[in-house]
Amino acid sequence: MINRRKFLKRAVWFIPAVGLFRRFASNAQATTAVAGYDPTNHLYGMGIDIDKCIGCGRCVEACKTENNVPKEPFFFRTWVERYTIKKDDSVEVENIDVRLRRRGEATTEADVLRSFFVPKLCNQCQNPPCVQVCPVGATFSTEDGVVLVDSNRCIGCRYCIQACPYGARFLNPETKTADKCTFCYHRIVKGLLPACVEVCPTQARVFGDLKSMASRLVRFKRMKRITVLKAHLNTEPKVVYGNLDGEVR
Ligand code: SF4
Ligand code: SF4
Repeated sequence: MINRRKFLKRAVWFIPAVGLFRRFASNAQATTAVAGYDPTNHLYGMGIDIDKCIGCGRCVEACKTENNVPKEPFFFRTWVERYTIKKDDSVEVENIDVRLRRRGEATTEADVLRSFFVPKLCNQCQNPPCVQVCPVGATFSTEDGVVLVDSNRCIGCRYCIQACPYGARFLNPETKTADKCTFCYHRIVKGLLPACVEVCPTQARVFGDLKSMASRLVRFKRMKRITVLKAHLNTEPKVVYGNLDGEVR
């Protein structure tokens, strides 16, 4: 007996037309989730203020709790990297969660030129490679600018995980489907902030609607020197960074 997921996994090369149809069906499902909510009125994004992040990791913990992300340290929907630029021009990048589990670090303050934290997450690309490669349309873009995964359709083929240039996706070991940040879509369609934004004690994360001139994010983009990660790939991220160091990849 072969179930639907197994069948689709085997037939993955023969069903691009099915995938296209399902992508539109999934879009319809996502945009009818909350009564009275019109996704065409919104376009969501996030700003990260590098000068404000203190690397406390509260955003990571809040995200794990809110979204049932597996507890193991290598599964993240959002994570924070510590960049250390040394006097010999070398650059060290560490996930702060992994770093906390290490012992006997050799770097001394005298070696360090500068050091800072960089929160990362799915960039909610306007032009997302993960959506383009999904053979069954399980990964799709909503009209309000969020890239989602329909876990009922996902066959766990991992194409999207390989296609994402930001390492923002993982295969959830419990559901066996692709997983990643959704900007807490279940919250934002009700007018709430994503969990990581709500708990950040320094307001290093700025969430907002790019279609609203009154949004904090629009002001943030006006006031800061804005950069996106890997701009040369033309993925058009909706996560933007303020005052990002040129060493960040
Ligand atoms: Fe897809 Fe990766 Fe872009 Fe997120 S960052 S939309 S997972 S390509
Ligand atoms: Fe940085 Fe805010 Fe996350 Fe703390 S909660 S690590 S300050 S982004």
